[in-house]
Amino acid sequence: MHECPHCNEASISTLQKLLAISPLRASCSACQQLSYVHITYALVALTVWIIMTWMLIGLSYWFQMSFLLLGTIPALIIAVDRHLLRAPLSKAQV
Ligand SMILES: [Zn+2]
Repeated sequence: MHECPHCNEASISTLQKLLAISPLRASCSACQQLSYVHITYALVALTVWIIMTWMLIGLSYWFQMSFLLLGTIPALIIAVDRHLLRAPLSKAQV
């Protein structure tokens, strides 16, 4: 669970946070106020994932091991976890 920027309760679920990328909003189950993750964090996560995927494509081509491409799935999870889920939630303007 993630902390609401209004009431500081850990009331926002991971799924809600993933779906709260600006201009979308997550509503707090404790205080009902809205918050969001700035789009920059999503773009950083996406960029990190694309870079890791290209590295995996290069490695799989170099070593002739196409199964390395499966690494793109954990790479996506790592990129989202490190850069999106740890991003701060911002208070939405009402
Ligand atoms: Zn709240």
